Amino acid sequence: MTILDEIKPTRRQRLYDLVRDAGIDVSHWETTKGNSSSAASNPKYCYNWSFVRDDVVVLNLWHQEMEETEGVVRCALNPRETARQDTCVRVARAQQMDLALRQAKMAHLPIRVIINAGARKKASGNTSQVKHRLLDSVEWSVESYDTLTGHCTLARGKPQPVFIDQFTAWAEGFESPKKKTVTTEVTERCSKVRRQVLERANGYCEYCKSPGLNTPTGQIFLETHHVIPLSEGGPDKPDNVVALCPNHHREAHHGATQDSIRQQLLAHLKTIA
Ligand SMILES: [Zn+2]
Ligand SMILES: [Zn+2]
Repeated sequence: MTILDEIKPTRRQRLYDLVRDAGIDVSHWETTKGNSSSAASNPKYCYNWSFVRDDVVVLNLWHQEMEETEGVVRCALNPRETARQDTCVRVARAQQMDLALRQAKMAHLPIRVIINAGARKKASGNTSQVKHRLLDSVEWSVESYDTLTGHCTLARGKPQPVFIDQFTAWAEGFESPKKKTVTTEVTERCSKVRRQVLERANGYCEYCKSPGLNTPTGQIFLETHHVIPLSEGGPDKPDNVVALCPNHHREAHHGATQDSIRQQLLAHLKTIA
C-alpha cells in the first residue's frame, strides 16, 4: 500500500470541523442567525481554499493532484496562474491561496492539509464537487516557491535539510548500519559539527571541488570525514572535519595516497580557519 493510498479520504467530513481541528479559529463563521450547522455552511468561508493563522497555514488540496516518489508525497500547484485564468469568486480564493503559500514559505510556517477527493473542476462552467475529505495528521512544508511565477511545490513532512551526509542517510534508512545504536550515538554527538561542515562545503567535495550526489529527495549528499581520526585523538570540531565526495572519502581511508590527502586537507582547513 502506498502512502497515497493511505491518505486517500474515504468519508465526508465538514470543512468547518477540519479547519477547526487544524487550529484555526472558526468562531466568526457563525452568522447572525447562527447555529453551528449554518456556521459550517457559511459561504463566506466554507468554499475557501486556504486559511491562515500567525503560526499555521491550512490548505485544501486535491488527492488526485498529489504524487508520490521515493516515499515522499508532493503536490505542485500554481494558484496565481489559476487566478489569471479563472473568473469571479474563484480568483479571490486563488489569490488568497497564493498569499498563504508565500506566507508559509517566508515565515517557515507548518502547513496542515485538508485532502479532498471528488470531481475536480475541469473547464469553466462546472464547479468542483468534493466527495470525501480528511485532515492529514502529518504536517506539510513548502519545498519550493517561485516568487516570479507563483509555481509552488509542497511536500508532505517537515522540510528536509539541503545538505546531508552518510549518517543522515543511514538514519533515514537509505542504508542500514549493523550497529544501529552505536551509529545513533555517534550521529547525535557530532551532528552539529557535521551540519556546520556540510554548510561550509556548500555541496562540493572539499578535496576535489566536484559537486556532491543529488538524492531522490532533492538533497545533496557528501560524506563527512575526520581528517585526524578520533582514534588518533583528532578533535570532533569543524576544523578537523571535512565533507568529501564518496570516492575521495574511500581514498582518504584506503588509498595509497591517504597520507598526501590528509596533508592537503589539513592545509585546506588551515586556509579557511
Ligand atoms: Zn572529491
Ligand atoms: Zn572518514
